[in-house]
Formats: sequence, structure tokens, C-alpha cells
Amino acid sequence: MPDAIPSVTIVEVSPRDGLQNHPRDISTAAKIGFIDALSAAGPRVIETTSFVNPKAVPKMADAAEVMAGIERHPGVRYMVLVPNVRGLERALAAGVDAIGLFAAATEEFSRANLNASIDETFVRFAETAQLAKANDVWVRGYISVAFHCPYSGVVAPERVLPVLERLVELGCDEFSLADTTGHATPGDVTALVTTALDVAPVERLGLHLHDTRGMAIDNVAAGYDAGIKIFDGSSGGIGGCPFSPGAPGNVSTESVVDFFERQGIATGIDSGAVRLAHDTWIA
Ligand code: MG
Repeated sequence: MPDAIPSVTIVEVSPRDGLQNHPRDISTAAKIGFIDALSAAGPRVIETTSFVNPKAVPKMADAAEVMAGIERHPGVRYMVLVPNVRGLERALAAGVDAIGLFAAATEEFSRANLNASIDETFVRFAETAQLAKANDVWVRGYISVAFHCPYSGVVAPERVLPVLERLVELGCDEFSLADTTGHATPGDVTALVTTALDVAPVERLGLHLHDTRGMAIDNVAAGYDAGIKIFDGSSGGIGGCPFSPGAPGNVSTESVVDFFERQGIATGIDSGAVRLAHDTWIA
């Protein structure tokens, strides 16, 4: 395992983002083995599961069992997604201490994927964030389609900024800007990060990049050059692009780790161990 003090943080999203739409059904035992193996690879944050409505997302119905079964490594934050207070209550009962809230940058995407307008989602988030803070729960706010929307096309930074400001007002501890369709270019990344840094501190701003068009690592490089030190990655690159069936989605953790480590930038993560975790439990 690399032993230099990490200078970038890679958020491992495969147990949730990767498995939520995985073509195979992964057993609860395999998810637990997978998460335990990932924990040993050195990440500081793992997006572990999702406390969504089990009827809507059957693949995440075992969220409480997964949280109860994993071995929580000291120094690793096991974050889960929650859509609302109901999800947070279930998460709290499972001993969760870090959550993610998903907002969208466009009304079209919000209505299609969250079944609510942006305003309506923030009503839910306000009560959820309030309950989270009352329970000392760490909160990450995501912004989907921060570069391009499958329904409304290119998303300018000026449309993302008000949503980011609302997440800042909620008291989120960290923010992640997502290239959900994988359409961003390095220039787009530079432009959005530069704008976003007007309202969010650089040490709390991250990027969630997809490799749909093979641009993810170039976009990681652009983000890093603009000051970003938090990047999401998915072991084995699992978590396809839902808008381009068969196309790559999440950038692989291994490629992000290797990109940084080759330049002497420590991630704290053993990319071989990440690959092994994926190949052992998921492939
Ligand atoms: Mg993703």
C-alpha cells in the first residue's frame, strides 16, 4: 500500500453508484465482501449503499444489512445516499454517520430522475440536512448533470451555481459536481470549477467524472490544475452511463489512482487492491 500522505482524495463510489444499476444481482454477502476488500485498499471515503425506497430500487433494498455486515475501518467514511428524511431515519437506525444528497442542475433532469422540481427537492433536502446535522452526520451534496443534460443539452456554469449556492446554504460539508453523461471537456471543467470556487471552498469541492467519451482522465487533469483535490472513482469503472446503454460511465478508480501516482501525487490507494476487490467480488 502507498504510504505517502495522500494529497488527493478519491471517493470510491462503486458499491452504490456501480451496483445500483449493475446488470447482475449481487448478493448481500458479496457486497459486504466487496466493501471490506475496498476498505483494505486505502480509500478515505466509500459510497457504500443507498437508503432509497426498496420498491423503487430493489438492488439497494439490503442497505441496512450491508451496513450491519461490513467491517468499518478507522479513518474510512462510509457514506450512503438518502433521498429524504425517511431514508435518513433508516440510515440513522443502521448507524450511518455520513450521507449524500442528490440535486440536479436542470429542471428537466430533476423531474425525470428525482420526480420533483429543483425547488421541491430542496424542500426535502432542507429537512433532511437539518436532521442530519442534529445527529452529527456529515453531508455531501451532489449536483447531477452539471455539464450536460440528456434532456436539455449543454448546462452552463451559470445554471449550476445557484444549485451549488443552495447546497452551501444547507450546510453541506462537501460538494461534488457530476458529469452524468460524460460530455464534459477539459475546458468545461476549468470553466465550471473556476465559477464554483466563488461559492464553495476548494478543499470541499469535488468532481464526479464519467468516461463515456474517453475524456475522464483529461477532465481529472483539468480539475486538478484548477485546484480540485477530491475525485470520485468506481472500481473496475462499474456504473454504466444510463443515457448511453453499453457506454462507459464512471471513471475507474484504478485509472484515476494510476494517473496521480505516476506523477508522484499520493492518493493513499493501492490500485491493484481496488482491481482485486472488483475482480474477486463483482466481475
Ligand atoms: Mg456516476
